[in-house]
Amino acid sequence: MAAVRNVLVVGGGAAGTAIAILLAEGGVSVDLIDAKPAADTAGSGITLQGNALRVLRRLGVWADVSAHGYSFDTLGLRAPDPHGSLIAELDDIRTGGPDLPATTGMYRPELARILLDRAAAVGAKIRFGTTCTTFTQDADGVDVTFADGGTARYDLVVGADGIRSQTRRMLGIDLTTTPTGMGIWRAFTPRPASVTRTDLYYGGPCYIAGYCPTGPASLYAYLVEDARDRSELSPPESLAVMRELSQAYHGPWDEIREHRTPPPPGYETLVYTHVLSAPWHRGRVVLIGDAAHACPPTLAQGAAQALEDAEVLAELLLAADAPTDAMWQAFTDRRVPRATAVVDASLQLSRWLLDRERGDVPGLMARISHLVSAPA
Ligand SMILES: Cc1cc2nc3c(=O)[nH]c(=O)nc-3n(C[C@H](O)[C@H](O)[C@H](O)COP(=O)(O)OP(=O)(O)OC[C@H]3O[C@@H](n4cnc5c(N)ncnc54)[C@H](O)[C@@H]3O)c2cc1C
Repeated sequence: MAAVRNVLVVGGGAAGTAIAILLAEGGVSVDLIDAKPAADTAGSGITLQGNALRVLRRLGVWADVSAHGYSFDTLGLRAPDPHGSLIAELDDIRTGGPDLPATTGMYRPELARILLDRAAAVGAKIRFGTTCTTFTQDADGVDVTFADGGTARYDLVVGADGIRSQTRRMLGIDLTTTPTGMGIWRAFTPRPASVTRTDLYYGGPCYIAGYCPTGPASLYAYLVEDARDRSELSPPESLAVMRELSQAYHGPWDEIREHRTPPPPGYETLVYTHVLSAPWHRGRVVLIGDAAHACPPTLAQGAAQALEDAEVLAELLLAADAPTDAMWQAFTDRRVPRATAVVDASLQLSRWLLDRERGDVPGLMARISHLVSAPA
């Protein structure tokens, strides 16, 4: 018997869909709600490291992810010179184990569709366009009211509602979310045949200029600069800024630049961070994913850590008879130090970039790869 019979998951991103899949598969009745009116049909790409792929395999979606994404095992470093010269080709560590690639690039809406379809197929009941307006908990459960009307009682509520988590606020947790100082432009474009893995260009007008193939015919390209308010720019103006910033980068970037067409080819996201100290639960409400920890994407570990939270929490809930203090302590022990180390390392990397400081980047990357290679 599991520790819970019915669960409300608030938020249908990577963390929320993953926990919904695992609990529903384990025989728990799962309601998943998301404030968005519908699943995203447009967006950019995501880089999934091996440890994320290991969880996706556990969720039963690896074949689908593999078929729609683009996998590779090396990382290229290029110079911001007139030829985009290749400086080094590094073997990426297969952090998900030897039978999974080191990295898979995906179109985000495709990943979301795969996860939502899987959650529905294993029995999770999914509702878009609503949120939870109040919850009141006692020792045995949580009474919830919904914005679209109705109430329900659950054994557990999982707040997987992202970096600005309303669940976190409703718990009265005061967590400061701080800007990292970085802004990222991302563009989703056709993949030139020459792009078969991620290449990173350090230096030039941007801190990083990079791209990641996301499927046989697509890639996403990104440019990291100082955070600034670009919210007033129209799509053509955004395209012009991104094109201008990318002019310093050559090699495959020349083809990527050619392919981009408005609107909107790219958009800038300001990057924020936080990490919640233990515990991540209050009574029978628990936070996972970006609601608990958010890192700059310098190590591409945000979604991976969100997926790991879901895997560990589901494993513990399905193995226990009740959500005991010992079970929550095990969750804390397995998740808080690991996710905190990843956030800290991702932040350290972004600080080195912003301060134009030559830190021990290979050493830091090797340490985190080693850490996340061990199953969560
Ligand atoms: C610029 C950028 C690039 C990134 N690149 C990568 C990368 O390459 N690789 C990687 O691993 N990570 C990357 N990340 C991090 C990654 O996107 C996040 O860590 C991950 O999406 C977190 O998943 P989540 O499910 O916790 O939250 P989210 O994906 O934010 O999902 C939260 C969900 O909750 C819903 N929601 C919000 N509020 C409510 C509410 N009140 N009620 C109901 N539903 C609600 C939202 O609609 C959303 O669907 C990047 C982040 C940024 C900012």
